[in-house]
Amino acid sequence: MARYTNAVCRLCRREGQKLFLKGDRCYTEKCSVDRRSYPPGEHGQGRRKASEYGLQLREKQKAKRYYGLMEKQFRGYFEMAAKKRGQTGENLLSILESRLDNVIYRLGFAMSRPEARQLVTHGHFLVNGRKVNIPSFLVKPGEVISVKESSRNLEKIKNVVEANSFRQPPKWLDFDRNNMIAKVVAVPQKEDIDFPIEEHLIVELYSK
Ligand code: SF4
Repeated sequence: MARYTNAVCRLCRREGQKLFLKGDRCYTEKCSVDRRSYPPGEHGQGRRKASEYGLQLREKQKAKRYYGLMEKQFRGYFEMAAKKRGQTGENLLSILESRLDNVIYRLGFAMSRPEARQLVTHGHFLVNGRKVNIPSFLVKPGEVISVKESSRNLEKIKNVVEANSFRQPPKWLDFDRNNMIAKVVAVPQKEDIDFPIEEHLIVELYSK
């Protein structure tokens, strides 16, 4: 699966918001958005007011980058959302939030989604007792996510869980931190997402 490999802080600066792509650094004064709150590039400080299309495009780019996806995959999720019952935009957010790499991040097993993706790829997690090393795996209500027995004592995982103990997991995940096991108790809703995304702008963009 292709992925973005250039300087990720540029993506945050381009969207004018912290996308939390670098873990620890995002919470320090070294964060590029805090230090230079204008878009990157030669004309970064002299941009004009965005058009309607520009706003829609930026919202799509922001969501795509927040979840660490490439265009083809993001578009695929939109099409999946459009085929489901209900509001396409809300379905899209629910699908994005259900990705296993996002779940691992939201539970506090990783400092960023890119780190969560790497941990999943390395096979540290189980879903319903079976190893799943696919970051795009979509979890469903009733499924149980746990850390593989041989990975439970890895310093990397223990330290991050400890460092993230202040973070509250979303209410659609019932997390037993001591035993490092979580159950999906509901389908994630728009209000469960800890980041402002105006999904209607994405729907408008793709519906043109
Ligand atoms: Fe974004 Fe984190 Fe870089 Fe700040 S430090 S610009 S939040 S990736």
